[in-house]
Order: sequence, then structure tokens, then C-alpha cells
Amino acid sequence: MQPVTARPAPVPSADEARAEGASPYATISDHTRPDIANVTRRLLILFALVAGLVAACGLTYSVAWQSGIDSLRLNAAGRVDRTTSSLKSTLERYESLPYLLAEHPIVQDVLVDPSPANVKRANLYLEDLNRHARATVTYIIPLNGYCVAASNWQGPGSFIGAGYHFRPYFVDAIKGGVGRFFGIGTISQAPGYYISQPVRRDGKIVGVAVVKLDLEWFQGADAFEPLVVTDDHGVIFLSSVPAWKYHTIRPLSGQVADSIYQARQYAQQPIEPLPVTIERKLEGDAQIVRVGGGRYAPRYLASRRGMGEPDWHLITMAPVSPVDADARNATIVTGFGYVSLVLLAFYWRMRRARVREVMRSRALLQKAYAELNQRVAERTADLSQANEQLQKEVSERTRAEQELRAAHDELIQASKLAALGQMAAGITHELNQPLAALRGFSDNTRVLLERGDQASARENLEAIAALTERMGKITNQLKLFVGRARPRSARAPAVRALRNAVALLQKRLQGVELELALFDVESGTRSPLDLAGDHPDLIAHCDDLRLEQVLINLLGNALDATAGMAAPRISVHIEVTAGSLSFAVGDNGPGIPEDVLPRLFEPFFTTKEMGQGLGLGLAISSSIARDCGGTLVARNAPQGGALFVLTLRRPRVQTSHTADPLTTGS
Ligand code: ADP
Repeated sequence: MQPVTARPAPVPSADEARAEGASPYATISDHTRPDIANVTRRLLILFALVAGLVAACGLTYSVAWQSGIDSLRLNAAGRVDRTTSSLKSTLERYESLPYLLAEHPIVQDVLVDPSPANVKRANLYLEDLNRHARATVTYIIPLNGYCVAASNWQGPGSFIGAGYHFRPYFVDAIKGGVGRFFGIGTISQAPGYYISQPVRRDGKIVGVAVVKLDLEWFQGADAFEPLVVTDDHGVIFLSSVPAWKYHTIRPLSGQVADSIYQARQYAQQPIEPLPVTIERKLEGDAQIVRVGGGRYAPRYLASRRGMGEPDWHLITMAPVSPVDADARNATIVTGFGYVSLVLLAFYWRMRRARVREVMRSRALLQKAYAELNQRVAERTADLSQANEQLQKEVSERTRAEQELRAAHDELIQASKLAALGQMAAGITHELNQPLAALRGFSDNTRVLLERGDQASARENLEAIAALTERMGKITNQLKLFVGRARPRSARAPAVRALRNAVALLQKRLQGVELELALFDVESGTRSPLDLAGDHPDLIAHCDDLRLEQVLINLLGNALDATAGMAAPRISVHIEVTAGSLSFAVGDNGPGIPEDVLPRLFEPFFTTKEMGQGLGLGLAISSSIARDCGGTLVARNAPQGGALFVLTLRRPRVQTSHTADPLTTGS
């Protein structure tokens, strides 16, 4: 058995669906799905672009920063090398000066015999030597530790008499070594570098010769690219940033701090560590450090070099902020470039899409145009076929019409010929009878005249005259039918015309009951009609003689119809309205057969015997009625017999001074 399945909803055709841009079996959710996919795709692209931007910026920043740091590091390395060698050579220049002093006899003499003369000599010598060597102070200390002679013996801050037994450079030299020491002067309070040598006489140490150098000039004052010199404990004793001075770069042990304090190296002030954070270690003993607390403390690229002897370290600090700024600028340029490229790519893509869309639209248009052309061609073909068919039909119809017209013309011609023949036969017959009678009467008359019977001959001649009159009437009828012989009036007194017609047919009316009546239609009054009376108000719009002729025809036909009747009766009613006047001529004859009725008014149509009628009476009468603007109709009366009604207009303006009873009565 066939399983009953739900009837599927009508689906659009593939073409319709394509036109709507959807699958032929798309549902509402299918319509939303492409939208979601589209949005997701766009979001992914946006995400990828943003990720690309971040990656490009990050890479640029990293590469630019690294290359900036590399070049900064190289520059800093050069600078620290140059500065270190400059400091080293300065120190080395003075390294031998204490030794030369120790070897000099004046120096040895004053140490062995500190007499005023020896002291003065030594002072003068030291002063002179100090000036020439461009040292800061040169002085001699005996074994008791109190200065005996000095180059600054004359000045207010003279070292003479000052005790130096606690100073490491004195202690080292007494022990027979070379003393090297940086510290703040106990008298001058000025920082300086001290180099000392033991002074020997006869192989025995008798004192110490010391040279003090001022190194303040060396540190410079460039706070933007600071220079730092640390001692063997990491204490900064030279720095272009004054605030960093006498701070350590690493914490001091208690023992070391004590020894520094005891030696009054840094004027017994507390030595605090400098807040330095190492951010990154680079190759070549370089580091990126942040100096100072807080997130926004300046960062430096620190390059460090050891001096060797003395065990100092020289550190140059190059600020990292320009590298940061350069990397930032490069990143911004890259970002702008990336965005510009993306926008350019978008523009190019949109342009390409638009071009593709235009091409697609053009292709569609071309296709539609081709389809249209094809359809037009098809339709045109149908149309031209229909047109051809129509033309064929038109020409066929025209030909049929022509044939019909020709047939009609032929028919008319034939009917004319038939009518002519009928007429000729009628006329011949009508005229033959009187002509034969004429011949008989004339022969008779001649015989009567030969006999001398004058009276009979006169009678015959009268009969001949009557016959010619009859013949004249026949020809007159023809003349009437053919043409209009005389000018006509348009006002015919109705009663007079009827009176004349009755008078003309007086003889034939003998033995016939003639009923005459006047009927006022509007008032509904009926009265007998007296033909002797004058009825000047009853005027018909027609020529009087022609009206008479019509009435004679109608009365003559009624007489013919009632000829065989036992009690022949003819009625003539004049019916009057405000605008018209009708003659209703009725009889009690056999009436008009149905098949005769349509042909009644045809010329030469007659049902009468040959010689009895030409068939022109009604034709002439109806044409007269028509000419006068009236009508002539025929029908059979309900009570039997025929009824002919001639209706004519009544003239609008009545010239008669007598008031029209019909019009005034209405
Ligand atoms: P005709 O009288 O010469 O025949 P008409 O034109 O006067 O010609 O009449 C045409 C025909 O109309 C007649 O032959 C007759 O058949 C018919 N007809 C006319 N008047 C009457 C009438 N009163 N009763 C019957 N038939 C009539």
C-alpha cells in the first residue's frame, strides 16, 4: 500500500531561487546561516588583521630596540674604554713621582733631621716640584705620622703638622709597599687620589713621600650620560651626578664599612647603597639598569671596565630613553604603514569586487538582452505570422466583399431588368387593351359614319376619348414615379385633399359604405367628418396634389380589395395630435397576406391580375410620404381587412387667422 505522505510546500524554481540569492530549498534559518557565517568570517579577518598589526608592531619594536641597544652598547663600550685608558694614563703619569721624591736627598734629609733649615729647603723643593708636576699637593710624612714638609706649606690649609698615621696609604708605605688610596682630605675636605712611597736612608725606611691628585675634573658634569668610578668596595667616589656620590653599587659588609670609617676615607659619612635594579644583562659586561625607585625611574645602559691597579671600576651610563623613543617611532611608522597597507588592500579588494560585480551585472545584462532579443524575435515571429494571417484574411474578405458587391450589383441589375420587364409587360398590357378597344371603336365609328349613324358615331368617339384619357392616366402614373413635375407647396388642407380624392373615385364608391371620422388623439374626442365643411386648421406638411394622389391610391386599393365583398366598407379616419396628422384608411377586404407584407412597397410589386395594376401605387405613395417627412405603414386590422396609415407633420406656424382648435385646445 502506498504510504500517505504530507504534501510538500511548493518550492521556488531554481531560477527564482538564484534570483533571490538563495538555495532553491532555503528555509528561514538557512537565510540567517550565511549571515552568521559572514559575520564570523569578518570577525576572524578583523582579528587576524589586529593580530597582524600587533605582531608587526611588536616585531618592529623589538628589532628596532635591539638594534638601538646594540649600537648604544657599542658606543658605550668605546666611551668606557676611552675614559678608562685616559684615567689610567693620568694615574700612571703620577705613579713614579713619589718614588722620585723618596730618592731625593732633601727629602731624606728632612726626615732624618727635621731642622728648620731642612724643613724650609724641603718645603721649597716640594712646592717647586708640585708646581711643575701639576699635582695637587706633595708632602713628606716621617715615621710618627705627622706631616713635616708640604708643597702647600705657605697656605692656610697647609698639611704640615697634620697626622696621617691612620691613612692606608701611610700604613702601606711604612710597610715598604706602594700606597694608593682615594679619599676625602682630612684637612682640605677635598676628595683626592693619594700615591705614596716609602723613603729609605741607608736601606731603612725613614718616612713616606705622598702625592695627592685632584680627580674632580675627571668625573665631568654630564648628567645625561653619567660617568661613575667605584673603588674596590663598590663605593662611588667620582660621579657626574652629585647625588650618586659616596653611595655603593652593592651593599657593604660591616667590616668594610668599619675600615672605611676608620680610615676616614669618605669623611666618616654614612655610605648608602644606590637604588639600582638590573633589568637585563647584555654581552660585553653591559647591563640595562634602572636607577632610582619607581616604575618611571630612568633606565641606563651601564658599561663597566676594571682599572686593574688600583682596583677601581669605571662605569658609563648611557640613557636608554632615546632608544625607546626611536623604537616607539619605528613602531608607530610600522603601524601606520601596516594600516595603510591594509586599507590599500581593502580598497583594492573592494575595487576588484566592484569590478567583478560590474562584470557580472554586464554579463547578466547581456544575457537578459540576448534573451529579450530572442523573445522579441519569437514574439515578432508570432506577430508577423498573425499579421500575415490577418492580411490574408483581410484580402480574402476584401475579395469576398468585392464579389458580394459584384453579385449585389448583378442582382440589382437583374432585379432592375426584371422590374423593367415587369413594367414593360404591365404597360404593354395596360395600353394594349385600350389600344385594341380604340381600334375596334375607330373601325366601328367608320362603319357607323358610312351608315350615317351620327349619334352612335359620337358615342363611339366619346368612348375613344375616355380610353385615351385612361391611357393618359397610365402614362401619368409612370411620369409621377419617375420625376417631380412641378414645384410643390408644403401645406395641404387635409379635408380638401380627401374630398377631391373621394370626388374622383365617386363612381367606384357607389354601393360602398364610406365611414369618415375626425379623431382628436389628445382630447380623445371623436367626431364624424363632413367633407363639405371647411377645416382650415387641419393642414398637413405636404404638397396638396401629392397628398391627393396618395389618398387616391389608398382608396383605389381599398376599393380593389373590397370589390367582391357583399357589403363593401371603407373607413377614413383623420387622427390629429399637436404635431401630426394621420389618415387611417381601412377596409373590410381580405387583408394582406403575411408573405406580401414585406414586399408591399416595392416598385412594380402587385398581386393583381395583368392589366389590373402596375404595382407602383404604394411605392409612389411611400416615397411621397418620405419626401414630406412622414411615414406610410400597412398592417392588418384586428377586426379584419387591411389598414394603411399615412402620418404627416403639421406645419409649426399657422398662418390662418382662425385659431387652431386642436392646438389651442391642448
Ligand atoms: P397595384 O394596385 O397596381 O397592384 P399597388 O402598389 O397599389 O399596386 O398595390 C400593390 C399590392 O398591394 C396590390 O397588388 C395588393 O396585393 C396589395 N394591396 C394594396 N392595397 C390593398 C388592400 N387594401 N387590401 C389588400 N391588399 C392590398
